[in-house]
Amino acid sequence: MIVGDWRAARVVDVAEVTPTARVLRLSVPGWPGNDAGQHVDIRLTAEDGYQAERSYSLGSYGSADTIELAVDEIPDGEVSPYLVRDVEPGDELEVKGPLGGYFVWRPGGVEPVQLIAGGSGIVPLMAMARAATDAAEAASVRLLYSVRTADDAIYRDELDELSGDGGVALTWAYTRTAPSTWSGRVGRLDDQTIASSVWSPERGPRVFVCGPTGFVEHVADALVRLGHAPANIRTERFGGA
Ligand SMILES: Cc1cc2nc3c(=O)[nH]c(=O)nc-3n(C[C@H](O)[C@H](O)[C@H](O)COP(=O)(O)OP(=O)(O)OC[C@H]3O[C@@H](n4cnc5c(N)ncnc54)[C@H](O)[C@@H]3O)c2cc1C
Repeated sequence: MIVGDWRAARVVDVAEVTPTARVLRLSVPGWPGNDAGQHVDIRLTAEDGYQAERSYSLGSYGSADTIELAVDEIPDGEVSPYLVRDVEPGDELEVKGPLGGYFVWRPGGVEPVQLIAGGSGIVPLMAMARAATDAAEAASVRLLYSVRTADDAIYRDELDELSGDGGVALTWAYTRTAPSTWSGRVGRLDDQTIASSVWSPERGPRVFVCGPTGFVEHVADALVRLGHAPANIRTERFGGA
């Protein structure tokens, strides 16, 4: 059912993927399809009529009317703890979208693609990595994914699969604790790590950066310092510091 811009959605599946995040699959009858990178607004309505809306990126792309979100809990947040802890298959919520036409990637371009994610910022980039893999274009895609610890990585197993032979070139970065086998540095992404893992500016990559606002601004500044053209850098800020 559509009321105004809002469509009724039913939760069909929930999966805990990290200690603080869940992947939610929603059935949205009449969903018009979406490009990789787009997002939706989710609206919750309490029994007393109080409503809250938040934006969530789509981990899925294409025309199927079951869409996928991945939500990381913000402690003391209003909406994310409900989506991560309480929502169950069969529950109804409302969805508006797909939204956003700028932070979008479609197969068929000539330039290499650089994806850089912090935390839950992986979600729209996962849609891009999946789209590139399905279009046999994964070899032109690199992904740098910064997480607190390996256990905090959303989509960890699928990313390891996508980055197999001829797949997306995946570089992990750890800000708090690294696996015992890790020999690299631990900490906030620095210029050296970025320079050594992303396509060089000379290749003219289209760069997509997504995550908490502070992460995105830090990485975008570093990319410009390293010689990437600002016009080639697209950013999506999830909020927070
Ligand atoms: C385009 C877009 C796409 C998004 N996609 C996703 C997604 O795929 N997955 C996902 O988990 N979130 C995503 N977000 C963030 C999401 O919209 C909410 O902001 C987040 O879930 C927190 O909502 P809340 O109601 O729990 O917290 P609120 O009650 O709104 O905020 C509580 C406190 O947390 C801070 N805060 C809010 N957001 C963040 C954040 N992202 N990081 C750190 N601190 C924060 C606030 O400043 C506030 O101090 C996206 C945001 C945008 C704009």
